[in-house]
Amino acid sequence: MDHYKPEYVHCNGEQFRIYLTQEEIQECVRKLGQKITRDYAEKRPIFIGVLNGAFVFLADLMRHVTIPCEIDFLKLSSYGDEKVSSGQVTELKEIDAEIEGRHVILVEDIVDTGLSINFLIEKLKRSNPASLATVTLLHKTEKTRHDVKLDYVGFRIPSLFVLGYGLDFAQEGRNLAQIYILDKNPKPAAGEDAK
Ligand code: 5GP
Repeated sequence: MDHYKPEYVHCNGEQFRIYLTQEEIQECVRKLGQKITRDYAEKRPIFIGVLNGAFVFLADLMRHVTIPCEIDFLKLSSYGDEKVSSGQVTELKEIDAEIEGRHVILVEDIVDTGLSINFLIEKLKRSNPASLATVTLLHKTEKTRHDVKLDYVGFRIPSLFVLGYGLDFAQEGRNLAQIYILDKNPKPAAGEDAK
């Protein structure tokens, strides 16, 4: 299969460069999948992906989970065409699955302030799941509220706007196989769960 992974990307008049390569991302997703497989043996978890951004990550993650599992999606409003959060969370699509008594794994592409994931945790808890865990590929640690519960983290990164592997800039760039940043920033460290 051909993948879209140029050295530089031009999007909305700005130049982005590679921050996390396809190999780094795939290795990290593989390890997260193996860890979830070990932690959820016999539990038949249901993954709830947050659209639109998490669909690429979840598609790869799920194929590294080698126990029976299910999937559903919900959708929140995005950053729109901006690079900073509006601070408002609006739900645009609800899940269809019945999650009462189920082992739920909420899957985000990226957590920044934690506002979105906290909103979703509170919402899902009201349906009385047997357990509720969170997974995020990227965690921008600097602005995260102290009460945010993240169980599986791929990469911990500084407050940089990132693009690619499901993440967009004004709806562009989701099909990039790698993760890109504006062309002027440093390299990331792997999160504990990805080691
Ligand atoms: P939070 O509510 O934690 O502040 O923001 C989480 C949501 O903001 C993510 O699900 C994602 O939609 C969006 N987001 C946060 N940082 C970035 C980023 O660097 N790039 C993109 N494309 N979206 C981001």
